[in-house]
Amino acid sequence: MNRLQMSAADLARAVKNREVSAAENVQASIARIEEVEGRVHALLTPLFDRALEKAAQIDQKVGKGEDPGPLAGVPVIVKDNLCMRGLKTTCGSRMLENWRPPYDASTVRFMEEAGAVILGKANMDEFAMGSSTENSAFFPTLNPWDLDRVPGGSSGGSAASVACGYAPLALGSDTGGSIRQPAAFCGVYGLKPTYGLISRYGLVAFASSLDQVGPFSRSVEDLALVLNVLAKPDPADATSSRRERPDFMTFLGKENLKGLRVGVVSEFEAYPVQPEIKEAMERVQNILREAGARFSCVNLPTTIEAGLPCYYIIAPAEASSNLARYDGVRYGLSVEARNLGDLYMKTRGRGFGAEVKRRILTGTYVLSSGYYDAYYLVALKARTKISREFKEAFQDVDMLLMPTTPTLPFRQGENVEDPIQMYLGDVFTLPVNLASLPGLSLNAGYSKTGLPVGIQLVGPQWGEGTLLAAAEAVERVLGKPACAFGGV
Ligand code: GLN
Repeated sequence: MNRLQMSAADLARAVKNREVSAAENVQASIARIEEVEGRVHALLTPLFDRALEKAAQIDQKVGKGEDPGPLAGVPVIVKDNLCMRGLKTTCGSRMLENWRPPYDASTVRFMEEAGAVILGKANMDEFAMGSSTENSAFFPTLNPWDLDRVPGGSSGGSAASVACGYAPLALGSDTGGSIRQPAAFCGVYGLKPTYGLISRYGLVAFASSLDQVGPFSRSVEDLALVLNVLAKPDPADATSSRRERPDFMTFLGKENLKGLRVGVVSEFEAYPVQPEIKEAMERVQNILREAGARFSCVNLPTTIEAGLPCYYIIAPAEASSNLARYDGVRYGLSVEARNLGDLYMKTRGRGFGAEVKRRILTGTYVLSSGYYDAYYLVALKARTKISREFKEAFQDVDMLLMPTTPTLPFRQGENVEDPIQMYLGDVFTLPVNLASLPGLSLNAGYSKTGLPVGIQLVGPQWGEGTLLAAAEAVERVLGKPACAFGGV
């Protein structure tokens, strides 16, 4: 098999068995990036020299007969809102253009301790606010399957990297869909874990009650493999759950899905989605049914009615508070000014892009006295109701099947002038964050014009295992997602 099509599990096995060296893996990835990156623009900061050094260290370990870890010599791309000590972590923003954090994100540390080799930092919408990676302060990333279209966002660079075969794995973050939607648009797997499963320490905060780190891959086995590495309790993150984690590999290799109860959401069925996404829903439904799953309808009326406005109140409210720290005094951009007020205004005026400013304004508004009760408090109540609705649904079913997005990847520039249209694309993903649930987007084929179609599996809290088992059943029939540009 072509090395770029190989899974992380296969690459790590090959490194451990000395069939290939970590250095060779990294060199192959670098060659691939050099071949394709000029068209796709997925990376903000390549880390090739560092990666080659790290790979040499892994190879030394292997040479000495030491255990190089479950991700030995596996190339990985990391979203640029995850801190890496001493290295640029821009968050796609001018505000942090030259910021070098003094510490590693826990997820970065866990990956490196497991033997993974980080090849570069991926492009993203500024502060993870967006759905197309067009909000990056630096340049847009393009969809590898159609360069006129967006790769999704905000983790568009991570998703595109995996789709192009830069690496079998990438890390992203998901506040309202930022892993699952770009995974769908780029034709790869993306998993947003249960809130609290994976540490947020060192993830630049957007909306802290919603943010989660998660992986992209081209195989279900790799999702399980990387969850075993990432899903550790972390004392450095107060919201990291201390609950014992299962071995995620044990959910794989299930012969059939007999007894699995899958729900389709009536309100989502009635929602206007593009016909090719409806067809993909049916395709996945048939595969799961064939594998032994039983289907029923569930109702989530508040979720569909209130989810979107609720998210677009809570997320900006939290963002307006989190982003108050960028004041030109402590760290990040600092613009010459006459006095303190002037410093705040100039720094924040120049450092933030239009969408980030829009969120800060919205967030400040909904938290201000007089409007707090009318907006923020109502949104919090709606959020509770949404969580309860999901909880009730999960008494009758083990998993929900829904589209990841209502549309196929849209054209560059198509939604730039119309933020509401952009927000509407998050209708199926953001309720999952509001209710702290796990969601997995898988590739369920391609449109007639060759665009990837994503379908989403949603589980109850801590239900990742069910999602992995179901995704694997689909993979057995449809095969693993392909690399764009032929994978060579
Ligand atoms: N598109 C959503 C937003 O703009 C979600 C972003 C995310 O998950 N980080 O807020």
